[in-house]
Amino acid sequence: MDMMRAVTFSQFGPPSVLRTVEVEKPKPKPFDVTIRVASAGICYHDVLSRAGMIPRDRPGLILGHEIAGEIVETGSEVSKTRIGQRVAVYVRLYCGECSYCLSGRHDLCRRSTVVGENGGGGYGEFTCVPSRNAIEIPDGLDLNVAAMACCPVGTSVRAVLGQAALGPGDICLITGASGGLGLHQIQVARSVGAHVIAVTSSEEKVAHIEKAGADEVIISPDLQFSGEVWKRTQKQGVTAVMENVVTGTFEQSLRSCGQNAAVVILGNIGAKPVSLDPGLMIVRRLRVMGSGNATYTDMHRALHLLSTGRVKPFIDRVLPFDDAAAGHSAMENRKTTGRVVMSGWR
Ligand SMILES: [Zn+2]
Ligand SMILES: [Zn+2]
Repeated sequence: MDMMRAVTFSQFGPPSVLRTVEVEKPKPKPFDVTIRVASAGICYHDVLSRAGMIPRDRPGLILGHEIAGEIVETGSEVSKTRIGQRVAVYVRLYCGECSYCLSGRHDLCRRSTVVGENGGGGYGEFTCVPSRNAIEIPDGLDLNVAAMACCPVGTSVRAVLGQAALGPGDICLITGASGGLGLHQIQVARSVGAHVIAVTSSEEKVAHIEKAGADEVIISPDLQFSGEVWKRTQKQGVTAVMENVVTGTFEQSLRSCGQNAAVVILGNIGAKPVSLDPGLMIVRRLRVMGSGNATYTDMHRALHLLSTGRVKPFIDRVLPFDDAAAGHSAMENRKTTGRVVMSGWR
C-alpha cells in the first residue's frame, strides 16, 4: 500500500488539533488525475471547518481547496498526455448535467461540493480530482501564486467582472478593503479600467490598500462614509459596491450608490440581518446580489491576470505543510495581511 503524508485532525478544536500523519495515498478514479501538491492556500473556510463551525463537516478530513501542483498519474479514462502538466484546481465538484452546469455556472450546481469538504483536499502530498477540475496553468506562473487562482482571485473576478460586470470608467466602492477579498478586488477592478474607492476603518491598513492600487482611500473609523463618497463622486454615486463587511456598513453602501448600481454582497461577518430602505432601492433602481465561487471562465481570467502580473496576490507567508497549525493560528488571530500558503514538507 502506497502511503503519503497529510495534515488532518481527529477532533474539532483549536489549531493544535492539526497533525501530520501517514495516510493511504489516494488512487485516481477512471476520470480523475492525481496531483502532486506543490502549494495549498489556507482559506478562512478551512479555519471554520477545523473549528467545527461548518455543519456538514466531520473530523478526519484532509482540508484545502486552494491547490496547485503537477499531474503525476491519470485514471483509466484520462489521456496520459496530461502527466507532467502544471495545474491549479477548480474548487467545485459538480454534476455536469443540471441547467446551471450546462450553462457554465458550475458555481450554482445544487449537487456540487467543494474540494476538501469530502476529505481529499490539498493538505496532503497528493490529491485526486476529476480531470476537468485540473486546469493547466500558464508557463512560468509560480505555483504558490497559481494556488490562489480559483479562490480568492477567481472569487474576486466573479464578483467584480461577473456579478457587477465592471468596465472602464465605472466607479467601484470596496468596503473592508484591506481584507483578503478586498485587496484582490481592487486589482481586478483596476485591471479593466474601473476607478476604485476603498473604505477602511483604520489608518494602519492604508499602505496595503494603496499598494493594491486603489485610486482613493476613505478612512472611516465610524463607518459613516456615504457623505464622503457622494462628495468625491460629484454627487453621482458609485457604479458598484463590493460589500465585504455588510454589518454596520450596508446602509451607507446603499446610500453611496448611483443610478442602477450593483451591490455585491460577499461578507457576513456579523451573521445577522440588515435593514434596507425600499424607497432608495426604487428611486435609484438598485440591484442587490450575492456572490461566491468562481466559474471556469472566471478562473481562466484569474490565471491570465496572475500570469501578466495585473493581479499580484497578497501572500503573507509561506510555511511547510507540517506547520499548518501555525498557519491556522495566524489566520484565526487575523495576524496576516493576505493569504498563508503551505509548500513543501520538513
Ligand atoms: Zn478558499
Ligand atoms: Zn450541476
